[in-house]
Amino acid sequence: MKKKLVGIAFLAATFMFGPIAAFSWGPEGHETIADIAQTRLDPQTQTAISGILGSNVSLSSISNYPDTLRYGPTDFGGLLSRPLAKDADTGSWHFTNIPVEESLSQTPTTDELNQYPDCDKQASGSTAQLMGDSVQDCIHAQIKFALSQLSAPRPVPSPQASEAESAEALTLWKDRRIIALSYVVHLVGDEHQPMHTAEDHGDAGGNTENVQFQGKLEHLHELWDDLIDKTGWQDQTPQAANALAQQLLADLDSLPKDEVASWISGDVEATINNAIGESFNISKNTIYPDYYKSRGSQSSATPLILPDGYQAQMRPIVNKRLQMAGVRLAHILNQVNWDGNGTSSANSGNQNH
Ligand SMILES: [Zn+2]
Repeated sequence: MKKKLVGIAFLAATFMFGPIAAFSWGPEGHETIADIAQTRLDPQTQTAISGILGSNVSLSSISNYPDTLRYGPTDFGGLLSRPLAKDADTGSWHFTNIPVEESLSQTPTTDELNQYPDCDKQASGSTAQLMGDSVQDCIHAQIKFALSQLSAPRPVPSPQASEAESAEALTLWKDRRIIALSYVVHLVGDEHQPMHTAEDHGDAGGNTENVQFQGKLEHLHELWDDLIDKTGWQDQTPQAANALAQQLLADLDSLPKDEVASWISGDVEATINNAIGESFNISKNTIYPDYYKSRGSQSSATPLILPDGYQAQMRPIVNKRLQMAGVRLAHILNQVNWDGNGTSSANSGNQNH
């Protein structure tokens, strides 16, 4: 009888958790990061971004379309000339699952990062095809690829091309830049979510670690995605994200200038790679040890009930990651050669691929 009850409980838990899904920071996390970055763009970058998105379209408003695309079709809020079809193949662009038993420095090279899943295979699927994307199927490579698209020169009509062909080439270039910008905004956020960079014995970045926090059953990965809005910040709107961004920006002013400067002291490639090195080490040295200590000898099939203080304990890490992502996103965008002439930092960061 007891055995049967356990079986039912397990089934119920499986049903309640639903299929395994790797998201990202929740929508409000990406909006917060974008809002922080928006205040730190230089005028030239702001003008270039308005040229791509249209005036009065914020980075925040395009920050979540890469997640939307994984689960359904989207025209990026009407910005694209035509909708993209649902593309689950883009899922692995959002993370890299480095086994926690590995050692990775806080400042890994691109060659080091390329050793890990899914950096050993090339991007495929309809979006990759549309973008001309054949770089590796993992987050650092995809950020660098998207940056290279932002520097791609406007197509020059060839004398042999028909008017329709020239118009189509121009439309494709415009669509690619909108998609690429959305991916840069989103993926720079994702690489700062520690659980997007580490895994333990095939747990897909904590997506199979069952936990219960404040009465809600979820996986450790999802919990980290949503950790910013579990208590005291239930109002899940872009306005609420903006309020958090303002608070984090004010906090930034109180940090030593040297510390903030150190986040963006390297070139674009190093800035992208360092975020992964830091995230991995936070997972390896803090999140997983804390999880296993709490779990003790409890079976992993039973959801681990995390104490109410878990969010307060981890919030300094979460807030710092959101701040760093916002500051770095602005820095990276400010280095883009928007005119597509010459070699930008973004392009040089991509030469290894
Ligand atoms: Zn994501």
